[in-house]
Amino acid sequence: MLEAVLAVDVGGTRIKAHWQDPEGRLLSEWVIPTPARDDPSDTIDAIVDLAIDGARQTPAGIRPVAIGLAVPGLVDERTGLAIHSENLGWRDVDLAARFRDRTQLPVAISQDVRAGARAESYSGSARGASSTLFVPIGTGVGAAIVLDGVVRAGPNNRAGEIGHIPAGGSTQPCMCGRSGCLESIASASAIRSRYNARIRDADAPVDGAAEVIARAGAGDRVAAEVWGDAIDALAASLSAADQILDLDLIVIGGGLSLAGETLLGPLRLHLAQRGSASTAVVGAFHRDLAGAVGAGLRAWELAR
Ligand SMILES: [Zn+2]
Repeated sequence: MLEAVLAVDVGGTRIKAHWQDPEGRLLSEWVIPTPARDDPSDTIDAIVDLAIDGARQTPAGIRPVAIGLAVPGLVDERTGLAIHSENLGWRDVDLAARFRDRTQLPVAISQDVRAGARAESYSGSARGASSTLFVPIGTGVGAAIVLDGVVRAGPNNRAGEIGHIPAGGSTQPCMCGRSGCLESIASASAIRSRYNARIRDADAPVDGAAEVIARAGAGDRVAAEVWGDAIDALAASLSAADQILDLDLIVIGGGLSLAGETLLGPLRLHLAQRGSASTAVVGAFHRDLAGAVGAGLRAWELAR
């Protein structure tokens, strides 16, 4: 029998899960929609049910030894407490206990961005780097800080909240209730909504940031301004982080990283102009699976 851990990444809209072998390789993977329930406690029960259902379809020859769960928001990885998630609506949930009670397996809880950073450091774009900032950009903008090879959460688990630092003198309202946050200008969602808010009635709205980037490349002036604002705000925030932390590497992940060099090229240029020329900027290797891979790696730490 091959020992394996069940790795689960719970997002606001999708749950990604896979079986992971002792070397961190994915054995089989599946994606399911995140159940929407009015009561956050029901959402958690539904997530546990779905994970257990998935686990029941264990491929032949696998013996489950632990579960690794990555969740968004404020998480205490030491205690397994999910302190708060805006997306999923929960507060102070002992997620580790909820899973342990139902599965009788050891459970490691990770914050999703930190899980992604572990995956990139272990077997992805940041392998061999000592000090890294992992920055997933999608619905929001997050960051996880790796210093001297260790993921740092801070005493209150708040390290890396780069999405809500002020960016570029903007007054754009943000989901967090404040205004002018990096996330309100440079997240994939913000790029889409800022563009759609500025186009004329005759122009077709876009479904996502990728379309804004394509229109910018084709000479659309509004698209170019919105995309330029996003790059400027990202570069300013990443450069500030680099000057505080002295990084080897910045790894860009999340949906926006699929833009590849269209995003990374201008970021490198702006960072160099701001004195961060020696800091490499690369795309994530694990793409949108980084959170799940990192969740599995922590499950292995627990199982060994
Ligand atoms: Zn904010």
